[in-house]
Amino acid sequence: MQQHQNAFTVDVEDYFQVSALERHIPKATWTQQQGRVEENTERLLELLERHAVKATFFTLGWIAERHPRLVRQIATHGHEIASHGYDHTRVTYMDPVTFKADITRSRAVLEDVTGTAVAGYRAPTFSFTRQNTWVYPLLAESGYRYSSSVAPVRHDLYGIPDAARHAWRDESGITEIPISTIRAGGRNFPCGGGGFFRLYPYAMTRWCVRRVNERDGQPCIFYMHPWEMDAEQPRPPGLGLKTRVRHYLNLRRVPARLEQLLRDFRWNRMDQVFAL
Ligand SMILES: [Zn+2]
Repeated sequence: MQQHQNAFTVDVEDYFQVSALERHIPKATWTQQQGRVEENTERLLELLERHAVKATFFTLGWIAERHPRLVRQIATHGHEIASHGYDHTRVTYMDPVTFKADITRSRAVLEDVTGTAVAGYRAPTFSFTRQNTWVYPLLAESGYRYSSSVAPVRHDLYGIPDAARHAWRDESGITEIPISTIRAGGRNFPCGGGGFFRLYPYAMTRWCVRRVNERDGQPCIFYMHPWEMDAEQPRPPGLGLKTRVRHYLNLRRVPARLEQLLRDFRWNRMDQVFAL
């Protein structure tokens, strides 16, 4: 019987809002896209409900403005609503002024929709880097208590390879809770969901969660997206091989793997796992 409590998190965005597709489906065309976030999130809510798991949903302000009923439904199920920024602009493209405006606007939209205070923030595409360490005081000023925006790995799109692997507190008072990794051969490897969960056999994820729990004595932070529940999602033409593999490979296997993951370990919302 697994004793550790782990954090299950969902980044609520539509399939066309991921960074890997931004050159193929520009932001200016988002309102013309056929959204699939409602059906996909409802599938996920049903799955979590069946396993009596509460999770944290890092939600885009853009989504909350257009799908307020969905966001209220997530909150009504007992899940935590947190911010994933307003429109998925990576923090690496923002300066302190635009970042402050983004985190303030997204928090206000989410709080208006749910009537509940928002404590958590996750940067789009884990875009906290060594260059934008000015983020923490701004999050604290804007009313946030924690962030889950660092991937302590080497990756072509994101990451701080030598960052702390487990939760730490910034002097601004913000607790940063990095996405889970395992350490092997002097390097960190991502193991907290996303492509890792889909590309490799489930046994790898199970081994990694156990290792984080037992060897590090820490909760595992798992993340996914509603579009990962949707093998039928439209595929824009002209995508490169890397994007096709990262975004679409093994989508059909996700629901069954999630069942297994939810059975094998204990999961809860971020604010409860870390008593924030
Ligand atoms: Zn995202």
